[in-house]
Amino acid sequence: MMKMEKWLLIGSGGREYAMAQSLAKNVNREVFVAPGNPMMNMIDRVQTVDIEELDFDALIQFTLDNQIDWTVVGPEKPLSDGIVDRFTNAGLKVFGPNKEAAQLESSKEFAKEVMQSASVPTAAYATFNNHDAALLYMEKHDFPIVVKLNGLAAGKGVFIIKDLAEAKKTLASIYDNDANQEILIEEYLDGQEFSMIVMVNGTDVITMPLAQDHKRIYDGDKGPNTGGMGAYSPLPQFGDDVLNKGLVKVIRPVLAEIHKRGILFQGFLYAGLILTKDGVKVIEFNVRMGDPETQVILPQLQGDLGDVIVKLMNHQDQTVDWKTDRYFLGNVLAAKGYPGNHKNGLTLPQFSDEKLSLAYAGVEEQDEKLVSSGGRIMMVISSDKDLKAAQANVNQAIKNNVDSNDYAYRTDIGDKAFRSIKKLW
Ligand code: AMP
Repeated sequence: MMKMEKWLLIGSGGREYAMAQSLAKNVNREVFVAPGNPMMNMIDRVQTVDIEELDFDALIQFTLDNQIDWTVVGPEKPLSDGIVDRFTNAGLKVFGPNKEAAQLESSKEFAKEVMQSASVPTAAYATFNNHDAALLYMEKHDFPIVVKLNGLAAGKGVFIIKDLAEAKKTLASIYDNDANQEILIEEYLDGQEFSMIVMVNGTDVITMPLAQDHKRIYDGDKGPNTGGMGAYSPLPQFGDDVLNKGLVKVIRPVLAEIHKRGILFQGFLYAGLILTKDGVKVIEFNVRMGDPETQVILPQLQGDLGDVIVKLMNHQDQTVDWKTDRYFLGNVLAAKGYPGNHKNGLTLPQFSDEKLSLAYAGVEEQDEKLVSSGGRIMMVISSDKDLKAAQANVNQAIKNNVDSNDYAYRTDIGDKAFRSIKKLW
């Protein structure tokens, strides 16, 4: 019998659910997820481990005690806190960027400065750490304008400001809270946003299909920003040229610049891009896969995610194939009220259509029953050769099975693909 490989995945959301599913497709692999969520235990060869994602000592001990072969880190917080440095120092194999490389996400200022050195197109910006200088700058610039808190803010640190009155209100609330808060003030970019995620070892890169997230809570991109309310992939409105240009104009120059600075980037690199009338520009970098993009990208992988990672980390040549004949589209079901105050303990909706797949996130066990816990609860995913059919399947299934008094969801995931896009590269 072949020896079982053992992998540890860190995280607990829908992204990690999809990663666990993908890794566990290999029948010779066991996947442990820390802390995971209870629904992951229903996936063959997957089990959750009750260790928090920031408890590095306990995670390392678990890895040593259980002779784990590889660890993959899902979320940003452990990465920016240096989990990869700790694992590497303990002699353990891990796929993710170290603390220095993770600054591409944890410090917006670092990311901007790297992009500037590498001549990567992004919004013009200036940085401030006091109220008066920031206000003076905004008084001299056109609106809309964008204010971003420096550092990890879980999507909640970005303010799109439409006039001077709003600028004054926003700055007052930021600087009342912390008189020395570092902020970036950025040119507003107008266009269609999309996500390009690649797997990286130094300057070796494996591309994945493009995807599109939907950050706002309501249809038509209205309402507050969330962690992401739905996604689809690939993107029929963009040809291969967009992916290639993203690689040549954004990913490769940034990795070359990082490498030149003596920083080793290993792991997933996510470029949040926007197609403006002046071409593609970078909105932000993340140093991990996106949630919900992962849930619609990984099912397209033809090979074995674990093998791809190991070969990449060993600098072995490989061809990675993705299904090219189908679209994957998923809607997130969030607790009503999210991203503000919302209920917990909701009954989980049931779906009988076997063609749908479900990726669970905010779920917990209460009195031997699985109920919702947290904002984003699960994602309902359909795949079809026709993107419109995938959208219709998901929307119909949600309409039939989900109580809209308890759950919030969008119905327009995929709509941007149906509008024709002029190629602007
Ligand atoms: P970030 O936290 O940088 O990903 O920003 C969150 C969201 O804010 C992005 O997905 C965009 O929708 C929006 N955003 C950020 N920066 C800009 C910008 N310069 N122009 C327009 N929208 C932006």
